[in-house]
Amino acid sequence: MIPLERLRRGLRRLGDVPLSVKLLGVILGIILIGVLVSTALLNQLTKEQFARFNTLRTLTYAPTLVPLFADYYARFGSWEGIERLLGEDLDASQAMRRMHEWMMRDHTMSPEMMAYMIIAMYDVMLADGEGRIVLDPDRAYLGQRVPVRVLERAGIPIEVGGRTVGWLVSATALSLFNPLEQEFLRSVQRSILVAALAAGTIALLLGGLFLRQVIAPLRRLDEAARRLAHGDLSQRVPVHARDELGRLAETFNEMAARLQRSEELRRRMIQDIAHELRTPLTVIQGNLQAILDGVFEPTPETIASIHEESLLLSRLIHDLRELSLAEAGELPLHKQRVDLREVVRRAATAVQPRLEAKGVELRLELPEEPLPAEIDPQRIRQVLLNLLSNAERYTPEGGRIALRAERRGGEIRVSVSDSGPGIPPEDLPYVFERFWRGDKARTRSSGGTGLGLAIAKQLVEAHGGKIEVESAPGRGATFMFTLPLAAGSPGASDAPDSGSGSESESESESKEAPSALRSA
Ligand code: ADP
Repeated sequence: MIPLERLRRGLRRLGDVPLSVKLLGVILGIILIGVLVSTALLNQLTKEQFARFNTLRTLTYAPTLVPLFADYYARFGSWEGIERLLGEDLDASQAMRRMHEWMMRDHTMSPEMMAYMIIAMYDVMLADGEGRIVLDPDRAYLGQRVPVRVLERAGIPIEVGGRTVGWLVSATALSLFNPLEQEFLRSVQRSILVAALAAGTIALLLGGLFLRQVIAPLRRLDEAARRLAHGDLSQRVPVHARDELGRLAETFNEMAARLQRSEELRRRMIQDIAHELRTPLTVIQGNLQAILDGVFEPTPETIASIHEESLLLSRLIHDLRELSLAEAGELPLHKQRVDLREVVRRAATAVQPRLEAKGVELRLELPEEPLPAEIDPQRIRQVLLNLLSNAERYTPEGGRIALRAERRGGEIRVSVSDSGPGIPPEDLPYVFERFWRGDKARTRSSGGTGLGLAIAKQLVEAHGGKIEVESAPGRGATFMFTLPLAAGSPGASDAPDSGSGSESESESESKEAPSALRSA
């Protein structure tokens, strides 16, 4: 428990160490482990292979040696005096001389002579059945015991009467190397070490390069994020790669751009609001001041004009509140299933007297079959009235306004077209922006706040629809918006895929609704 706690604390403290140091540590650790393990393994492998080589070599001569020794054992019943079989001085350095003498004398080589040669030159030892060394050309290991399982693996058994009475085994097979062999092994080990160190150094260099590649963009990102946090929203970082770091940099840039955009919008909006509120206030103040100074008579007309400005002011404040609620997705929608034709018809009736008075014809085009929709009728009426009053404002006497509603695929399409002057193409992208007005002086004098279309857009989108405008200068303007058909009605797509804020709300409500809409 306590070491675990200490480990946890240690790890937590490791969190304070710079990432570059940690990664370097990991790379170094991996290289070190790799070098150590591979060196050790290679060393072991060389020794083993060398021993194996010697064992195999001994095995090559086994047919000559084994019968000779088996014969000796069968004759005497033990290994005693075995060295005498081969002559007194079992010495590798003397072997050549003795062989030479033998050859000169007899011109033949007895099996004993052959055995002597092999044993002396290849360091072959003889162990008895229990593994005790009974014959060793160097006499260094005479009498020592070698475990039988080692002999079973590395030695060649000598069998007499079906019993293993001894083993021939080379000294190297038991990892007992003579000085020459030791020197050979040492030089191999040195080469392995040099190779491992060289590989380690290259790995370290490559690791360092990689580390730089990882750490440098992180540092840049850290620096940029810090500046951003201190209010410099223009911070961006270069994106060099398409990997996770590259994506992180991209996301950072996107986030910074969004922050900057919304900060600009916020600033502009405050400026706009201040400006819009100031204008009617200035007019009211100016007029009142003039009355106080005795410049103006407080006639009913002057008071009426002051009253009108104050009405504009309160409408502006009302619209602003409505817009900010709608933009925040907090405008309550009281949705119900209605026939949209009804809502459209009522809006038309509401504006009809004013249009008639102005001498503008209103054409209403509605389909025969109902247009079932799951909407807040008050809000959609608000949108319609806004579009209609804009159309009225811009349509000259003798002009025409067409109000249409129809079913198109899985949605309802409503449009308001007028025969007014239309909107210049360069202005089209801005008409739905708050406070945007084509002709500032004229629209303000006619009571326009520049918020009507912005609110209409929010309301339509809150219903899961889209609003757009089409216009060519001199040929009038057409504003159209869509609304999803109520779920369950024929042709309706039951899962509207629009990106509106209140989508879930409309969906959940429409699920409860009865499907007896055809009777609506
Ligand atoms: P406003 O309160 O000024 O009408 P809106 O948001 O309703 O604000 O409209 C914004 C601007 O869009 C108007 O000032 C006007 O320039 C333009 N606009 C809107 N409707 C029409 C239309 N039917 N014909 C021409 N221009 C229009």
